[in-house]
Amino acid sequence: MGGLAHNIMCFPGAGAGVGNPMLWHCFRPYWLTISLPLPAIHTRISCIDRSIFVIVPESIWKFPKIGAFFHNKNIMVNQRKWLPRMKEAQISTSADTDRWRGVATSAAMPVPDEMRAWVLGDPEQLDRTTKPVPVPGRAEALVRIDAVAICATDLEIIKYGTPALIEGGPPFNKNFSPGHEYMGTVAALGPGVDEFEIGDRVTVEIHSGCGQCKRCRMGMYTSCHNYGLNFGDQNKGHRANGFTTDGGFAEYAVNNINTMIKVPDTMSDEVATLVVTAGTSMYGLTELGGLVAGESVVVIGPGPIGLLAVAVAKALGATPVILVGTRENRNAIGRQLGADITIDARNEDAVARVKELTGKGADYVVDCAGNETTVNQAIHMTNRGGRICLAAFPKEPATFDLGYLAVNNIYLYGIRGEGRSATHRAMAFMAENRFDAGLVHTHTFPMEDLPEALRYARDRVDDAIKVVVSMRKNANPAGSSGT
Ligand SMILES: [Zn+2]
Ligand SMILES: [Zn+2]
Repeated sequence: MGGLAHNIMCFPGAGAGVGNPMLWHCFRPYWLTISLPLPAIHTRISCIDRSIFVIVPESIWKFPKIGAFFHNKNIMVNQRKWLPRMKEAQISTSADTDRWRGVATSAAMPVPDEMRAWVLGDPEQLDRTTKPVPVPGRAEALVRIDAVAICATDLEIIKYGTPALIEGGPPFNKNFSPGHEYMGTVAALGPGVDEFEIGDRVTVEIHSGCGQCKRCRMGMYTSCHNYGLNFGDQNKGHRANGFTTDGGFAEYAVNNINTMIKVPDTMSDEVATLVVTAGTSMYGLTELGGLVAGESVVVIGPGPIGLLAVAVAKALGATPVILVGTRENRNAIGRQLGADITIDARNEDAVARVKELTGKGADYVVDCAGNETTVNQAIHMTNRGGRICLAAFPKEPATFDLGYLAVNNIYLYGIRGEGRSATHRAMAFMAENRFDAGLVHTHTFPMEDLPEALRYARDRVDDAIKVVVSMRKNANPAGSSGT
Protein backbone atom coordinates (compact mmCIF):
# COMPACT_ATOMS: atom_id res chain seq x y z
CA MET A 1 0.00 0.00 0.00
CA GLY A 2 3.06 2.17 0.45
CA GLY A 3 2.43 5.90 0.49
CA LEU A 4 -1.33 5.52 0.59
CA ALA A 5 -1.37 3.93 3.99
CA HIS A 6 -2.71 7.02 5.69
CA ASN A 7 -5.07 8.24 3.04
CA ILE A 8 -8.63 7.48 2.33
CA MET A 9 -8.73 5.95 -1.11
CA CYS A 10 -11.72 6.78 -3.22
CA PHE A 11 -12.30 5.18 -6.56
CA PRO A 12 -11.56 6.58 -9.06
CA GLY A 13 -8.44 8.45 -8.13
CA ALA A 14 -6.87 7.97 -4.75
CA GLY A 15 -6.85 11.11 -2.70
CA ALA A 16 -9.27 13.09 -4.87
CA GLY A 17 -12.08 12.91 -2.40
CA VAL A 18 -10.21 13.13 0.85
CA GLY A 19 -11.78 15.64 3.13
CA ASN A 20 -14.56 16.52 0.71
CA PRO A 21 -17.81 14.79 1.60
CA MET A 22 -19.57 16.06 -1.52
CA LEU A 23 -17.06 14.37 -3.72
CA TRP A 24 -17.47 11.15 -1.82
CA HIS A 25 -21.17 11.14 -2.55
CA CYS A 26 -20.48 11.53 -6.25
CA PHE A 27 -18.58 8.29 -6.18
CA ARG A 28 -21.41 6.12 -4.97
CA PRO A 29 -21.64 3.19 -5.24
CA TYR A 30 -17.91 2.71 -5.46
CA TRP A 31 -16.02 1.27 -2.60
CA LEU A 32 -13.52 2.88 -0.32
CA THR A 33 -10.56 1.54 1.49
CA ILE A 34 -9.97 3.28 4.75
CA SER A 35 -6.78 2.93 6.68
CA LEU A 36 -6.57 6.09 8.71
CA PRO A 37 -5.87 6.45 12.41
CA LEU A 38 -9.09 6.11 14.39
CA PRO A 39 -10.04 9.76 15.10
CA ALA A 40 -9.59 10.77 11.49
CA ILE A 41 -11.62 7.78 10.33
CA HIS A 42 -14.52 8.61 12.56
CA THR A 43 -14.71 12.15 11.22
CA ARG A 44 -14.59 11.02 7.65
CA ILE A 45 -16.95 8.05 7.67
CA SER A 46 -19.74 10.14 9.11
CA CYS A 47 -20.37 11.43 5.60
CA ILE A 48 -20.41 8.04 3.87
CA ASP A 49 -23.80 7.33 2.40
CA ARG A 50 -25.98 4.39 3.33
CA SER A 51 -25.39 1.05 1.69
CA ILE A 52 -21.99 1.84 0.37
CA PHE A 53 -19.43 -0.92 0.61
CA VAL A 54 -16.41 -0.30 2.75
CA ILE A 55 -13.26 -2.29 3.12
CA VAL A 56 -11.53 -1.72 6.43
CA PRO A 57 -8.50 -3.26 8.00
CA GLU A 58 -9.16 -5.56 10.92
CA SER A 59 -7.39 -3.17 13.29
CA ILE A 60 -10.04 -0.51 12.69
CA TRP A 61 -13.12 -2.72 12.64
CA LYS A 62 -12.38 -3.78 16.21
CA PHE A 63 -13.42 -0.34 17.58
CA PRO A 64 -17.07 -0.62 18.68
CA LYS A 65 -18.01 2.93 17.65
CA ILE A 66 -16.97 2.30 14.10
CA GLY A 67 -18.70 -1.04 13.99
CA ALA A 68 -21.97 0.42 15.26
CA PHE A 69 -21.82 3.22 12.73
CA PHE A 70 -21.44 0.83 9.84
CA HIS A 71 -24.20 -1.36 11.17
CA ASN A 72 -26.70 1.49 11.61
CA LYS A 73 -26.18 2.79 8.12
CA ASN A 74 -26.32 -0.69 6.58
CA ILE A 75 -22.80 -0.27 5.34
CA MET A 76 -21.31 -3.59 4.43
CA VAL A 77 -17.94 -4.21 5.83
CA ASN A 78 -15.45 -6.63 4.50
CA GLN A 79 -12.75 -7.19 7.06
CA ARG A 80 -9.47 -7.77 5.39
CA LYS A 81 -5.92 -7.07 6.25
CA TRP A 82 -4.94 -6.00 2.77
CA LEU A 83 -5.84 -7.23 -0.65
CA PRO A 84 -4.14 -5.57 -3.57
CA ARG A 85 -6.59 -7.00 -6.07
CA MET A 86 -9.50 -5.30 -4.37
CA LYS A 87 -8.65 -2.41 -6.68
CA GLU A 88 -10.63 -4.31 -9.27
CA ALA A 89 -13.34 -5.50 -7.00
CA GLN A 90 -16.85 -4.29 -7.39
CA ILE A 91 -19.32 -5.01 -4.66
CA SER A 92 -23.01 -4.78 -5.29
CA THR A 93 -24.99 -2.23 -3.31
CA SER A 94 -28.39 -3.32 -4.59
CA ALA A 95 -31.14 -5.26 -2.87
CA ASP A 96 -29.32 -8.60 -2.95
CA THR A 97 -26.60 -7.27 -0.70
CA ASP A 98 -27.54 -9.48 2.21
CA ARG A 99 -26.98 -12.67 0.24
CA TRP A 100 -23.68 -11.42 -1.12
CA ARG A 101 -22.46 -9.62 1.99
CA GLY A 102 -18.70 -9.72 2.17
CA VAL A 103 -18.32 -11.63 -1.12
CA ALA A 104 -15.84 -10.18 -3.63
CA THR A 105 -16.76 -10.23 -7.30
CA SER A 106 -15.20 -8.56 -10.31
CA ALA A 107 -16.64 -6.32 -12.99
CA ALA A 108 -14.52 -8.34 -15.42
CA MET A 109 -16.53 -11.48 -14.57
CA PRO A 110 -20.06 -10.49 -13.62
CA VAL A 111 -22.07 -13.13 -11.76
CA PRO A 112 -25.74 -13.43 -12.71
CA ASP A 113 -28.48 -14.00 -10.12
CA GLU A 114 -29.67 -17.18 -11.81
CA MET A 115 -28.01 -20.01 -13.67
CA ARG A 116 -28.99 -22.94 -15.84
CA ALA A 117 -28.66 -26.29 -14.12
CA TRP A 118 -29.61 -29.94 -14.58
CA VAL A 119 -31.50 -31.37 -11.62
CA LEU A 120 -32.35 -34.95 -10.69
CA GLY A 121 -36.08 -35.70 -10.60
CA ASP A 122 -37.14 -39.35 -10.36
CA PRO A 123 -34.50 -42.04 -10.98
CA GLU A 124 -32.95 -41.68 -14.47
CA GLN A 125 -34.70 -38.34 -14.99
CA LEU A 126 -32.64 -35.19 -15.40
CA ASP A 127 -34.36 -31.89 -16.09
CA ARG A 128 -32.89 -28.63 -17.24
CA THR A 129 -33.98 -25.75 -15.06
CA THR A 130 -32.82 -22.48 -13.53
CA LYS A 131 -31.60 -21.99 -9.97
CA PRO A 132 -30.22 -19.08 -7.99
CA VAL A 133 -26.44 -18.84 -8.28
CA PRO A 134 -25.05 -20.19 -4.99
CA VAL A 135 -23.22 -17.75 -2.72
CA PRO A 136 -19.79 -18.66 -1.33
CA GLY A 137 -19.34 -18.48 2.43
CA ARG A 138 -16.25 -18.33 4.57
CA ALA A 139 -13.35 -20.39 3.11
CA GLU A 140 -15.32 -20.86 -0.11
CA ALA A 141 -15.25 -19.59 -3.66
CA LEU A 142 -17.77 -19.55 -6.48
CA VAL A 143 -16.53 -21.49 -9.50
CA ARG A 144 -17.94 -20.91 -12.98
CA ILE A 145 -17.98 -24.39 -14.43
CA ASP A 146 -16.22 -24.76 -17.76
CA ALA A 147 -16.10 -28.55 -18.15
CA VAL A 148 -17.31 -31.66 -16.30
CA ALA A 149 -16.28 -35.27 -16.81
CA ILE A 150 -18.87 -38.00 -16.41
CA CYS A 151 -18.03 -40.72 -13.90
CA ALA A 152 -19.53 -44.19 -13.46
CA THR A 153 -20.63 -42.96 -10.02
CA ASP A 154 -22.74 -40.22 -11.67
CA LEU A 155 -24.57 -42.97 -13.57
CA GLU A 156 -25.07 -44.84 -10.25
CA ILE A 157 -26.44 -41.76 -8.53
CA ILE A 158 -28.81 -40.93 -11.36
CA LYS A 159 -30.16 -44.50 -11.42
CA TYR A 160 -30.01 -45.70 -7.79
CA GLY A 161 -29.39 -42.57 -5.73
CA THR A 162 -26.49 -44.01 -3.72
CA PRO A 163 -23.88 -42.98 -2.76
CA ALA A 164 -25.43 -39.50 -2.94
CA LEU A 165 -27.16 -38.40 0.26
CA ILE A 166 -29.25 -35.25 0.20
CA GLU A 167 -30.95 -33.98 3.34
CA GLY A 168 -30.36 -37.33 4.97
CA GLY A 169 -31.96 -39.41 2.21
CA PRO A 170 -32.03 -40.33 -1.49
CA PRO A 171 -31.24 -37.46 -3.87
CA PHE A 172 -34.43 -37.70 -5.96
CA ASN A 173 -36.76 -34.73 -6.45
CA LYS A 174 -34.72 -32.47 -4.19
CA ASN A 175 -33.59 -29.93 -6.79
CA PHE A 176 -30.16 -31.60 -6.61
CA SER A 177 -27.58 -31.18 -9.38
CA PRO A 178 -25.15 -34.13 -9.69
CA GLY A 179 -21.71 -33.99 -11.36
CA HIS A 180 -18.46 -34.05 -9.40
CA GLU A 181 -15.46 -34.12 -11.75
CA TYR A 182 -15.36 -30.54 -12.94
CA MET A 183 -13.07 -27.61 -13.54
CA GLY A 184 -13.74 -23.95 -14.12
CA THR A 185 -12.87 -20.35 -13.37
CA VAL A 186 -13.04 -18.59 -10.01
CA ALA A 187 -15.91 -16.07 -10.23
CA ALA A 188 -16.31 -14.81 -6.64
CA LEU A 189 -14.48 -15.09 -3.34
CA GLY A 190 -16.21 -15.69 -0.03
CA PRO A 191 -15.44 -13.45 2.98
CA GLY A 192 -11.78 -13.60 3.94
CA VAL A 193 -10.62 -15.65 0.96
CA ASP A 194 -7.33 -14.45 -0.54
CA GLU A 195 -5.87 -17.81 -1.56
CA PHE A 196 -7.27 -17.51 -5.08
CA GLU A 197 -8.02 -14.66 -7.44
CA ILE A 198 -11.07 -14.08 -9.56
CA GLY A 199 -10.24 -15.42 -13.02
CA ASP A 200 -8.02 -18.28 -11.78
CA ARG A 201 -8.58 -21.56 -13.65
CA VAL A 202 -9.09 -24.34 -11.13
CA THR A 203 -9.94 -27.99 -10.97
CA VAL A 204 -11.58 -29.46 -7.90
CA GLU A 205 -11.56 -32.48 -5.67
CA ILE A 206 -14.92 -33.73 -4.52
CA HIS A 207 -14.84 -34.00 -0.76
CA SER A 208 -14.52 -31.16 1.64
CA GLY A 209 -15.00 -32.80 5.01
CA CYS A 210 -16.51 -31.06 8.01
CA GLY A 211 -12.99 -30.27 9.21
CA GLN A 212 -13.94 -31.01 12.82
CA CYS A 213 -14.34 -34.80 13.08
CA LYS A 214 -11.58 -37.25 13.94
CA ARG A 215 -11.10 -38.44 10.34
CA CYS A 216 -11.05 -34.94 8.83
CA ARG A 217 -8.35 -34.00 11.32
CA MET A 218 -6.31 -36.93 9.98
CA GLY A 219 -6.70 -35.75 6.39
CA MET A 220 -9.18 -38.58 5.69
CA TYR A 221 -11.94 -36.19 4.68
CA THR A 222 -13.44 -38.65 2.20
CA SER A 223 -14.35 -40.71 5.30
CA CYS A 224 -15.77 -37.74 7.22
CA HIS A 225 -17.92 -38.84 10.14
CA ASN A 226 -20.31 -36.02 9.35
CA TYR A 227 -20.86 -37.06 5.71
CA GLY A 228 -24.02 -35.44 4.41
CA LEU A 229 -24.80 -33.60 7.65
CA ASN A 230 -25.02 -30.25 5.99
CA PHE A 231 -28.67 -29.32 6.16
CA GLY A 232 -31.18 -27.93 8.62
CA ASP A 233 -30.02 -27.96 12.24
CA GLN A 234 -27.22 -30.39 11.43
CA ASN A 235 -25.03 -28.04 9.49
CA LYS A 236 -21.60 -29.53 10.04
CA GLY A 237 -20.15 -27.75 7.03
CA HIS A 238 -19.53 -31.00 5.16
CA ARG A 239 -19.58 -30.79 1.36
CA ALA A 240 -19.12 -33.44 -1.28
CA ASN A 241 -20.25 -31.67 -4.43
CA GLY A 242 -22.35 -33.93 -6.62
CA PHE A 243 -22.92 -36.31 -3.65
CA THR A 244 -24.24 -34.34 -0.67
CA THR A 245 -24.27 -30.82 -2.12
CA ASP A 246 -24.92 -29.42 -5.59
CA GLY A 247 -22.37 -30.45 -8.18
CA GLY A 248 -21.12 -29.56 -11.61
CA PHE A 249 -24.02 -30.18 -14.00
CA ALA A 250 -24.75 -26.47 -13.68
CA GLU A 251 -23.16 -23.14 -14.59
CA TYR A 252 -21.76 -22.40 -11.12
CA ALA A 253 -20.84 -24.29 -7.96
CA VAL A 254 -19.48 -23.33 -4.56
CA ASN A 255 -16.24 -25.00 -3.46
CA ASN A 256 -14.23 -24.97 -0.28
CA ILE A 257 -10.87 -23.45 -1.18
CA ASN A 258 -9.09 -26.59 0.05
CA THR A 259 -10.77 -28.56 -2.73
CA MET A 260 -9.47 -26.22 -5.46
CA ILE A 261 -6.23 -26.62 -7.41
CA LYS A 262 -4.89 -24.12 -9.91
CA VAL A 263 -4.70 -25.37 -13.50
CA PRO A 264 -1.63 -24.51 -15.59
CA ASP A 265 -2.31 -22.54 -18.79
CA THR A 266 -0.89 -25.38 -20.85
CA MET A 267 -3.54 -27.86 -19.63
CA SER A 268 -6.84 -28.14 -21.52
CA ASP A 269 -10.20 -27.96 -19.76
CA GLU A 270 -10.88 -31.60 -20.61
CA VAL A 271 -7.61 -32.88 -19.16
CA ALA A 272 -8.10 -30.71 -16.07
CA THR A 273 -11.38 -32.54 -15.33
CA LEU A 274 -9.36 -35.78 -15.05
CA VAL A 275 -7.09 -34.59 -12.24
CA VAL A 276 -9.50 -35.78 -9.55
CA THR A 277 -9.62 -39.24 -11.17
CA ALA A 278 -5.83 -39.42 -11.10
CA GLY A 279 -6.09 -38.12 -7.51
CA THR A 280 -8.29 -41.09 -6.61
CA SER A 281 -5.69 -43.46 -8.04
CA MET A 282 -2.97 -41.56 -6.20
CA TYR A 283 -4.88 -41.81 -2.91
CA GLY A 284 -5.22 -45.59 -3.28
CA LEU A 285 -1.50 -46.03 -3.89
CA THR A 286 -0.41 -43.67 -1.15
CA GLU A 287 -2.77 -45.29 1.38
CA LEU A 288 -1.18 -48.64 0.53
CA GLY A 289 2.13 -47.32 1.73
CA GLY A 290 3.14 -44.84 -0.90
CA LEU A 291 6.71 -45.94 -1.48
CA VAL A 292 6.17 -48.15 -4.50
CA ALA A 293 9.43 -47.36 -6.35
CA GLY A 294 10.99 -50.61 -7.49
CA GLU A 295 8.04 -52.70 -6.32
CA SER A 296 5.53 -54.57 -8.45
CA VAL A 297 2.03 -53.15 -8.90
CA VAL A 298 -0.88 -54.92 -10.58
CA VAL A 299 -3.98 -52.98 -11.57
CA ILE A 300 -7.14 -54.95 -12.33
CA GLY A 301 -9.80 -53.19 -14.40
CA PRO A 302 -8.84 -50.63 -17.06
CA GLY A 303 -11.59 -48.08 -16.42
CA PRO A 304 -10.56 -44.45 -15.93
CA ILE A 305 -9.36 -44.96 -12.33
CA GLY A 306 -7.51 -48.17 -13.23
CA LEU A 307 -5.83 -46.65 -16.28
CA LEU A 308 -4.72 -43.63 -14.29
CA ALA A 309 -3.59 -45.94 -11.44
CA VAL A 310 -1.24 -47.52 -14.00
CA ALA A 311 0.03 -44.05 -14.93
CA VAL A 312 0.46 -42.91 -11.32
CA ALA A 313 2.16 -46.18 -10.25
CA LYS A 314 4.60 -45.84 -13.13
CA ALA A 315 5.26 -42.19 -12.28
CA LEU A 316 5.91 -43.23 -8.66
CA GLY A 317 8.59 -45.62 -9.92
CA ALA A 318 6.82 -48.97 -9.57
CA THR A 319 8.26 -51.80 -11.63
CA PRO A 320 6.87 -53.80 -13.19
CA VAL A 321 3.44 -52.25 -13.63
CA ILE A 322 0.99 -54.88 -14.83
CA LEU A 323 -2.54 -54.20 -16.08
CA VAL A 324 -5.24 -56.89 -16.15
CA GLY A 325 -8.23 -56.20 -18.42
CA THR A 326 -10.71 -57.90 -20.67
CA ARG A 327 -10.65 -55.50 -23.60
CA GLU A 328 -7.58 -55.13 -25.76
CA ASN A 329 -8.29 -51.49 -26.71
CA ARG A 330 -8.27 -50.51 -23.05
CA ASN A 331 -5.13 -52.55 -22.37
CA ALA A 332 -3.44 -50.78 -25.29
CA ILE A 333 -4.17 -47.40 -23.67
CA GLY A 334 -2.76 -48.84 -20.43
CA ARG A 335 0.50 -49.60 -22.20
CA GLN A 336 0.64 -46.01 -23.50
CA LEU A 337 0.13 -44.79 -19.94
CA GLY A 338 2.99 -46.85 -18.57
CA ALA A 339 1.97 -50.49 -18.13
CA ASP A 340 5.03 -52.69 -18.69
CA ILE A 341 2.86 -55.73 -19.32
CA THR A 342 -0.86 -56.18 -19.93
CA ILE A 343 -2.80 -59.38 -19.35
CA ASP A 344 -5.97 -60.23 -21.24
CA ALA A 345 -8.00 -61.93 -18.53
CA ARG A 346 -10.29 -63.59 -21.10
CA ASN A 347 -7.45 -65.56 -22.66
CA GLU A 348 -4.95 -65.95 -19.85
CA ASP A 349 -4.95 -67.07 -16.23
CA ALA A 350 -4.24 -63.70 -14.65
CA VAL A 351 -3.06 -65.13 -11.31
CA ALA A 352 -0.64 -67.62 -12.87
CA ARG A 353 0.72 -64.99 -15.25
CA VAL A 354 1.32 -62.42 -12.46
CA LYS A 355 3.15 -65.08 -10.41
CA GLU A 356 5.23 -65.98 -13.43
CA LEU A 357 6.13 -62.34 -14.04
CA THR A 358 6.86 -61.40 -10.43
CA GLY A 359 8.22 -64.62 -8.92
CA LYS A 360 6.34 -64.65 -5.63
CA GLY A 361 3.34 -62.52 -6.58
CA ALA A 362 2.76 -58.78 -6.68
CA ASP A 363 3.69 -56.39 -3.87
CA TYR A 364 0.61 -54.26 -4.48
CA VAL A 365 -2.65 -55.01 -6.26
CA VAL A 366 -5.25 -52.34 -7.01
CA ASP A 367 -8.68 -53.81 -7.80
CA CYS A 368 -10.67 -51.28 -9.81
CA ALA A 369 -13.24 -53.82 -11.03
CA GLY A 370 -14.68 -54.88 -7.69
CA ASN A 371 -16.40 -58.20 -8.32
CA GLU A 372 -16.05 -61.62 -6.73
CA THR A 373 -13.74 -62.87 -9.46
CA THR A 374 -11.36 -59.93 -9.34
CA VAL A 375 -11.22 -59.75 -5.53
CA ASN A 376 -10.19 -63.42 -5.42
CA GLN A 377 -7.69 -62.89 -8.25
CA ALA A 378 -6.24 -59.98 -6.29
CA ILE A 379 -5.87 -62.11 -3.14
CA HIS A 380 -4.19 -65.00 -4.95
CA MET A 381 -1.79 -62.86 -7.01
CA THR A 382 -0.51 -60.84 -4.01
CA ASN A 383 2.71 -62.01 -2.37
CA ARG A 384 3.05 -62.73 1.36
CA GLY A 385 2.81 -59.48 3.30
CA GLY A 386 1.62 -57.64 0.18
CA ARG A 387 -1.21 -55.15 0.02
CA ILE A 388 -4.49 -54.91 -1.85
CA CYS A 389 -6.45 -51.74 -2.55
CA LEU A 390 -10.18 -52.14 -3.18
CA ALA A 391 -11.07 -49.07 -5.21
CA ALA A 392 -14.46 -50.04 -6.70
CA PHE A 393 -17.89 -49.98 -5.00
CA PRO A 394 -19.62 -53.31 -5.82
CA LYS A 395 -23.35 -53.36 -5.04
CA GLU A 396 -23.44 -57.06 -4.13
CA PRO A 397 -21.68 -58.87 -1.26
CA ALA A 398 -18.76 -61.03 -2.42
CA THR A 399 -17.33 -64.30 -1.10
CA PHE A 400 -13.57 -64.37 -0.94
CA ASP A 401 -10.70 -66.53 0.31
CA LEU A 402 -10.32 -65.13 3.81
CA GLY A 403 -8.09 -68.00 4.97
CA TYR A 404 -5.53 -67.40 2.24
CA LEU A 405 -5.56 -63.71 3.06
CA ALA A 406 -4.89 -64.25 6.79
CA VAL A 407 -2.39 -67.08 6.44
CA ASN A 408 -0.33 -64.99 4.05
CA ASN A 409 -0.47 -61.79 6.07
CA ILE A 410 -2.03 -59.89 3.17
CA TYR A 411 -3.39 -56.44 3.95
CA LEU A 412 -6.72 -55.36 2.49
CA TYR A 413 -7.53 -51.65 2.19
CA GLY A 414 -10.95 -50.21 1.35
CA ILE A 415 -10.28 -46.88 -0.31
CA ARG A 416 -12.80 -44.15 -0.86
CA GLY A 417 -12.26 -41.19 -3.12
CA GLU A 418 -9.37 -38.78 -3.04
CA GLY A 419 -8.30 -37.95 0.54
CA ARG A 420 -5.12 -36.51 2.01
CA SER A 421 -4.74 -33.95 -0.78
CA ALA A 422 -3.86 -36.74 -3.23
CA THR A 423 -5.44 -34.68 -6.02
CA HIS A 424 -2.83 -31.97 -5.47
CA ARG A 425 -0.10 -34.59 -5.91
CA ALA A 426 -1.78 -35.94 -9.03
CA MET A 427 -1.82 -32.40 -10.45
CA ALA A 428 1.92 -32.14 -9.76
CA PHE A 429 2.49 -35.15 -12.02
CA MET A 430 0.05 -34.00 -14.68
CA ALA A 431 1.39 -30.43 -14.77
CA GLU A 432 4.80 -31.90 -15.51
CA ASN A 433 3.40 -34.18 -18.21
CA ARG A 434 4.59 -37.29 -16.39
CA PHE A 435 1.78 -39.11 -18.19
CA ASP A 436 -0.84 -38.16 -20.76
CA ALA A 437 -4.15 -38.38 -18.90
CA GLY A 438 -5.80 -37.07 -22.07
CA LEU A 439 -5.57 -40.63 -23.45
CA VAL A 440 -8.58 -41.63 -21.34
CA HIS A 441 -10.66 -38.70 -22.60
CA THR A 442 -12.58 -39.82 -25.66
CA HIS A 443 -15.60 -37.53 -26.21
CA THR A 444 -16.76 -33.98 -25.54
CA PHE A 445 -20.36 -32.75 -25.67
CA PRO A 446 -21.91 -29.34 -24.98
CA MET A 447 -23.62 -29.07 -21.59
CA GLU A 448 -27.08 -28.94 -23.18
CA ASP A 449 -26.46 -32.44 -24.56
CA LEU A 450 -25.80 -33.93 -21.12
CA PRO A 451 -28.32 -36.80 -21.56
CA GLU A 452 -26.56 -37.86 -24.75
CA ALA A 453 -23.17 -37.59 -23.06
CA LEU A 454 -24.46 -39.80 -20.23
CA ARG A 455 -25.66 -42.35 -22.80
CA TYR A 456 -22.22 -42.45 -24.40
CA ALA A 457 -20.61 -43.02 -20.99
CA ARG A 458 -23.15 -45.63 -19.86
CA ASP A 459 -23.31 -47.68 -23.06
CA ARG A 460 -19.64 -47.07 -23.95
CA VAL A 461 -20.81 -45.87 -27.35
CA ASP A 462 -17.93 -45.57 -29.80
CA ASP A 463 -15.56 -47.07 -27.17
CA ALA A 464 -16.14 -44.11 -24.88
CA ILE A 465 -13.98 -43.98 -21.75
CA LYS A 466 -14.11 -40.48 -20.26
CA VAL A 467 -16.88 -38.34 -21.68
CA VAL A 468 -16.66 -34.64 -20.89
CA VAL A 469 -19.38 -32.00 -21.14
CA SER A 470 -18.13 -28.52 -21.81
CA MET A 471 -19.73 -25.11 -21.36
CA ARG A 472 -17.55 -23.72 -24.09
CA LYS A 473 -18.53 -26.24 -26.72
CA ASN A 474 -21.44 -25.37 -28.98
CA ALA A 475 -24.22 -27.75 -29.71
CA ASN A 476 -23.18 -30.47 -32.12
CA PRO A 477 -25.79 -33.13 -32.76
CA ALA A 478 -23.30 -35.95 -33.29
CA GLY A 479 -21.02 -35.01 -30.45
CA SER A 480 -17.40 -35.34 -31.36
CA SER A 481 -14.21 -36.73 -30.09
CA GLY A 482 -11.25 -34.64 -29.17
CA THR A 483 -8.56 -34.24 -26.62
ZN1 LIG B 1 -16.03 -39.81 -10.01
ZN1 LIG C 1 -15.33 -34.60 9.12
